[in-house]
Amino acid sequence: MRQVRALWHVCTAVVAVGALASCGIFGSPAEPVDAPPPGGPKLTVGIKFDQPGLGQKTGDNSFAGFDVDVARYVAKELGVHPGNITFVEAKSAERETLLEQGKVDLVAATYSISDARKKKVDFAGPYFVAGQALLVRKTTSDITGPESLNQSDWKLCSVQGSTPAEKVKQAYAKNVTLRVFPSYPECLVALEDPEDPVDAVTTDDVILAGYAAAQPEKFKLVGKPFSQERYGIGLRKGDERTPKVTAALRKMVSDGSWKRAVEANIGKSGYKIPEPPEVLDSP
Ligand code: GLU
Repeated sequence: MRQVRALWHVCTAVVAVGALASCGIFGSPAEPVDAPPPGGPKLTVGIKFDQPGLGQKTGDNSFAGFDVDVARYVAKELGVHPGNITFVEAKSAERETLLEQGKVDLVAATYSISDARKKKVDFAGPYFVAGQALLVRKTTSDITGPESLNQSDWKLCSVQGSTPAEKVKQAYAKNVTLRVFPSYPECLVALEDPEDPVDAVTTDDVILAGYAAAQPEKFKLVGKPFSQERYGIGLRKGDERTPKVTAALRKMVSDGSWKRAVEANIGKSGYKIPEPPEVLDSP
């Protein structure tokens, strides 16, 4: 019964977030795409489907968010017509495997560049720098930052295969009880669970800002960001397209498209618009 209720809550959370996206609260409306030329190059891109402002499935074949705009820009620079891009869901824990198994060409999914991941995949970037933060219930007053959580009776939620889940335990709150789920909307449900709620959700501030803006009467961000999450485009190890993706990201910044995409997708959550990071040859 509890599982059924939890599932229902996940659905309503996703619907709430999705409804806001389709009302145009996050990002710009999808533009109609002309038919692609026959035989043109194709690209499969792994994105998040449930992160408002960043990567979101908003309809049968429509996707919105900053990562989606970055992916479309990069695809254009690789000579791929927008109609030849296939977006597939890349949950946090699946990103390396999707690339390694050749199921996607690129991952543009709030994907932090890390040494552990670099052993398995290549990155182009960084194209955005976020910081890890905490999301709590609107009524919570005794959690002010990660150090407040360093007791086993505090429950913290994050997502399998994400960098924040590991970092918070190692660096800030060794004693906290960590619960991990496959994706973030399940953490939002757990935050509201009437019987056994978690006390906080941790991941990147820009992701949490999207959820808080979608349900401001329920959730708020607390504390200062406490890590640097440098987002990169993931590619298969040795993929020859990596320098081209790097060049595309640089061009996106220099021609103003980066700023427009950040403002259109992320600005409306109230997140402070950052400066673009320097896109590196070896990120
Ligand atoms: N940027 C972090 C990561 O790559 C957290 C966000 C996510 O899970 O996508 O793990």
